[in-house]
Amino acid sequence: MRHLPYATLSRRVTQLISTLLLAIPLAAGGESYRLTLIDVGYGLSILAQDSDGTAILFDGGYREEAPLVRTALAQAGIDSLALMVASHGHGDHIEGLAVLLQKRFPVGLVIGNVPQGHASFDSLFWRSLGGVPYRQARAGDSLAVGSLQLQVLHPDTLTENLNESSMAVSLTLGTHRVLLPADIGVHTQEALATRWGQRLRSGILVAPHHGDVIARGFWDAVKPEWVLVPVGPNPWELPDSRVTRLTAEVRLIDTHRDGTVILTLDRGGISLISRTPHSCTQRREADMAERMRRWRRAH
Ligand SMILES: [Zn+2]
Repeated sequence: MRHLPYATLSRRVTQLISTLLLAIPLAAGGESYRLTLIDVGYGLSILAQDSDGTAILFDGGYREEAPLVRTALAQAGIDSLALMVASHGHGDHIEGLAVLLQKRFPVGLVIGNVPQGHASFDSLFWRSLGGVPYRQARAGDSLAVGSLQLQVLHPDTLTENLNESSMAVSLTLGTHRVLLPADIGVHTQEALATRWGQRLRSGILVAPHHGDVIARGFWDAVKPEWVLVPVGPNPWELPDSRVTRLTAEVRLIDTHRDGTVILTLDRGGISLISRTPHSCTQRREADMAERMRRWRRAH
């Protein structure tokens, strides 16, 4: 597939960065970063920012949760996004992004796992872009915004399974790495473990597919200290009990229990600085039946 100039350039940068990362554990830095796992119920929305206010928003939850995303952005002091990432076309990931774009929240660049106009994204999303540039990103691409670095780990090619085609990325925040695998399942997780090996190693893992089963090889490659589960009321009993057992020895954050969670990442390590549990739970219970109908239509 044809590559855009930025992608070609970024692959070279990636190679350089990869070489450096293998040579030294990670560059030591005095920077402080903030990671906000936004409680969007059953869905995913996560904000990463550096101390200069440069920010990346990865997914935006269902459209009903967009006000919560706006609130989280405001509370984080973010009035523009350098980069917005749309992992895949399911509503629990991209609807809230479309709302932000419709409201003309300033965004420098949107990247997604599909070419612009692809049918797996709601046409509303494409219309909402307005003049904001969009690029398809694929495994091997990397971007740097401010001091935040993003490397795309998946996919190479798209399949009809939207979850398995999710864009999986690794964020490098100073000395820390955060792995965001979106909604990939166990087979794709194993494939990533085989392909990327120890480069998956990350202090923070956002649990794949809202706490669904984690492949053993993937878990062993990532070796997280923290696992963040972006989940809300759902009929599939997620998080899976096997994940609960697997994560018994690490710090576990679950948005259904802990609400919106803010972590700081700096040379001193990873610290939990805020939790806001049980935001709008009543409305969520009431909305769930309608969401499940939409989910079944989309999957
Ligand atoms: Zn999802």
